[in-house]
Amino acid sequence: MTALLEARNVTKVFGGGIFNKSRTIALEDFSLTIQGEPPSVTAMVGESGSGKTTLGRLLLGLVDPTHGEILYKGKELRMLSSDERHQFRRDVQVIFQDPFEVYNPFYKVDHVLMTPVLKFRLASSKSEARKLVEEALLWVGLRPNETLGRYPHQLSGGQRQRVMVARAMLLRPKLIIADEPVSMVDASLRATILEGLGRLKQEFGVSLLYITHDLTTAYQISENIIVLYQGSVAEAGEIDLVIKQPKHPYTAMLISSIPQPDPEQRWGGDTPQESTAASVDGQNRGCKFADRCPYAMPICVESPPPFYQTDDRRAVACYLHKEATPVAGRGMDGVFAGRFAPHHD
Ligand code: SF4
Repeated sequence: MTALLEARNVTKVFGGGIFNKSRTIALEDFSLTIQGEPPSVTAMVGESGSGKTTLGRLLLGLVDPTHGEILYKGKELRMLSSDERHQFRRDVQVIFQDPFEVYNPFYKVDHVLMTPVLKFRLASSKSEARKLVEEALLWVGLRPNETLGRYPHQLSGGQRQRVMVARAMLLRPKLIIADEPVSMVDASLRATILEGLGRLKQEFGVSLLYITHDLTTAYQISENIIVLYQGSVAEAGEIDLVIKQPKHPYTAMLISSIPQPDPEQRWGGDTPQESTAASVDGQNRGCKFADRCPYAMPICVESPPPFYQTDDRRAVACYLHKEATPVAGRGMDGVFAGRFAPHHD
């Protein structure tokens, strides 16, 4: 079956131009297959500078890869016909961190919801369009009469973000890429919004790629997880395995920094420092985590660790697991049972 969306050996380098000679590798030789059927929820987790937002923008076609390809239904994004591009824009929706940026302050909220209805001809009459919009608002827990007719600044951050979920839901996409969708929302509303995103999968068969720095919410709604460090996958697999028994020292460090609910218990381990920007071209010959890793060995600085399949549904890029089988070629398809499949060649 042709994948819905695929990143194939994608590298994205910023800089290196006439005015900015330094080159930063935001994402390095990254591959990910999103089948779309059956739907699933995968978290892409990492600190700032890990490359996760760059990946989201690449998958949406907002930036071009430096090397490698992004494919929609087997065809490179750049080569899509206008009809195919129209379908891509319906099938793959995005929810950004700051919903306010998406709104035009001069238009009422209605505009955000009616535009896709008209553009994709979702309704045959004005009253049918209005009915669809009202249903979508109710579905995300907003009252249409308290939401429609208002300007964006008259809604709270949580309401604005729920309108964005309603907008995505109207289009019945196959995939939603949600980039830190709740990081600017009050804690009290986070669960509601995340629960709405999770229900999109159950009720409408929508897959979700949840990009976040927050392991706790990732764990709440995801089945699979990909942990990125400086543009490369550190660990990927079934979420229970990765969170409960992390095998990459970086994943373990991230998990140990989550505050514990027990007031008697101190925060576990060291709080990881924010990684500086992604790796600078040509400077990383070994494991990118070596300068922070308490287990670093001589081999770690000689060449990048392969991706080892340590369990049925998990792989780890770390020499501590060199007894396991390296994942070669597209073999990572099995890690997520063929749904989301990061792999290193
Ligand atoms: Fe640490 Fe070496 Fe594993 Fe990298 S490869 S995480 S430096 S033990």
